[in-house]
Amino acid sequence: MGGPFLYHSSGTKTKKFKQRHHKYDYIRRFTNDMKQVAIIGGGISSLSAACYLASQGFQVDVYEKNSTVGGRARQYKEAGFTFDIGPTWYWMPDIFENFFGDFNKKPSDYYQLDKLDPAYKVFFSEQDSISIPGTAQEIIQVFESREKGAGRKLEKLLRSAAYNYEIAMKEFVFKPGRSPLELVSFKTLPKAGLFLTSISQLSARSFKDPQLRQIINFPVLFLGAKPSDTPAFYSFMNHADFTMGTWYAKGGMYSFIEGLESLAKELGVRIHTDAPVEQISVKGKRATGIKTAGEWMNADLVVSGADYHHTETLLEPSYRTYSEKYWEKRTFAPSALMFFLGVDKKIQNVDHHTLFFDESFDKHAVSIYEKPEWPEPRLFYGSISSITDPTVAPEGKEAVTFLIPLAPGLEDSEEIRQHYFQKIMDRFEKLTKQNIRDHISVNKSYSVKDFTEDYNSYKGNAYGLANILKQTAFLRPKMKSKKVEGLYFTGQLTVPGPGVPPSLISGNIVSKMILKDLAKKS
Ligand SMILES: Cc1cc2nc3c(=O)[nH]c(=O)nc-3n(C[C@H](O)[C@H](O)[C@H](O)COP(=O)(O)OP(=O)(O)OC[C@H]3O[C@@H](n4cnc5c(N)ncnc54)[C@H](O)[C@@H]3O)c2cc1C
Repeated sequence: MGGPFLYHSSGTKTKKFKQRHHKYDYIRRFTNDMKQVAIIGGGISSLSAACYLASQGFQVDVYEKNSTVGGRARQYKEAGFTFDIGPTWYWMPDIFENFFGDFNKKPSDYYQLDKLDPAYKVFFSEQDSISIPGTAQEIIQVFESREKGAGRKLEKLLRSAAYNYEIAMKEFVFKPGRSPLELVSFKTLPKAGLFLTSISQLSARSFKDPQLRQIINFPVLFLGAKPSDTPAFYSFMNHADFTMGTWYAKGGMYSFIEGLESLAKELGVRIHTDAPVEQISVKGKRATGIKTAGEWMNADLVVSGADYHHTETLLEPSYRTYSEKYWEKRTFAPSALMFFLGVDKKIQNVDHHTLFFDESFDKHAVSIYEKPEWPEPRLFYGSISSITDPTVAPEGKEAVTFLIPLAPGLEDSEEIRQHYFQKIMDRFEKLTKQNIRDHISVNKSYSVKDFTEDYNSYKGNAYGLANILKQTAFLRPKMKSKKVEGLYFTGQLTVPGPGVPPSLISGNIVSKMILKDLAKKS
């Protein structure tokens, strides 16, 4: 990681940061003439870009349509219960450390982080479940206890996954996606074969037990694609899962968002909430500002962390790079149906993160990616964060989130949501052997319509564009507008892709791209 500019996201410490700072002082001088940046959206990628650009002397204004920042990672509170509306899995803590480190800060300056042990639990049936322990060594033993020889095979898989992680971080995820040549190096070339095999082929080759295969396939669901469509190179997600572990920010993922917001403000970023951007102004093919609440705000550069398709609708049609047809042909990551439940008793037989994999993922995946329809049968996920964090629910009660992944663009009605609510309750109560339905005091649902209305999300997608091979790296929508000078894009629809750590990285990449473009002109 770490680029040619000021950021040392690979964790290189302060001395190097300062040396580089002097080296690139000329950019500071240049930016004095060109310092107004308007950022559309207050999600993670936008706030990350805002921090990097503000630290370089730009005057940064963030315009967010909702009343709080965080975007997909906002928070919902009701009757003493606190829920993360979006992300709940805190993986790859190194990316967060390196991000804060770039500003001489640490995550612990803003929030308390703890490792979860067990990391999560997976139900395969009423009789069969696995708790994934907190260390790779213990997980290897769990695998061995289910299938003779599986421990050794997992060890081998994790060695290769660790190497892929290193390559991904050094040679891959911090690249701006301008050209395929960015990905070619003496380290990446020997890995080319891993782009021709899928994660599901890798897991099938390694393990006989279908449950072990499912656990290996699970992490790539975060990339928004089917394991059979995800290159085996992404086994670096298994390194993140088993070796780096699952972490939890006390108070929920939103504590990280509050940290990010505080950092941005400390760096001088001005954050405007309830400020939907209605238009991007272009003069002589150059972005000159944005319009919010009927008022024009001048800017030398415009960066959008809002969904790409929506951002382009803020431009006159002739300035849009991608057509409606282009978007229709993309493979979007799933949308979701979620329930945020306040349960007035403690729940048994579950972990903080619990996956319900007791039905076929392959059939569920067809309903998401091939024949979009409400899924039957369905997998779902439960987050019961109050198991480890007493601050998110009143004493003796539980804050529970259920999530079912869905195809984007499905018809969404209260009736359908309630049908699925009852189905989930049936399954949950049967698998975990308890009644919770009669103890629910808070019940809020969230689905396709909300994603569309709250985030201007294309077809109500939850995680942006899937990271399948043909939508990876230089094949993703470009960070720099091809038609409007000074207009840039960041976030989960651009590089490197969906997820909290990638969104943080995306803000880093776009800011480096801007500095590089300015340096070329100076
Ligand atoms: C349900 C769910 C669960 C997830 N789980 C995980 C997880 O466990 N772990 C993980 O790492 N990742 C997870 N993710 C993915 C992760 O949350 C996202 O990839 C990330 O938050 C995306 O950030 P972003 O900055 O790209 O976009 P967003 O968060 O979408 O930010 C874009 C912002 O732009 C704003 N906006 C849109 N239009 C306008 C406009 N016209 N004017 C002003 N503002 C506008 C939106 O309101 C939004 O705030 C999850 C996502 C969801 C939805």
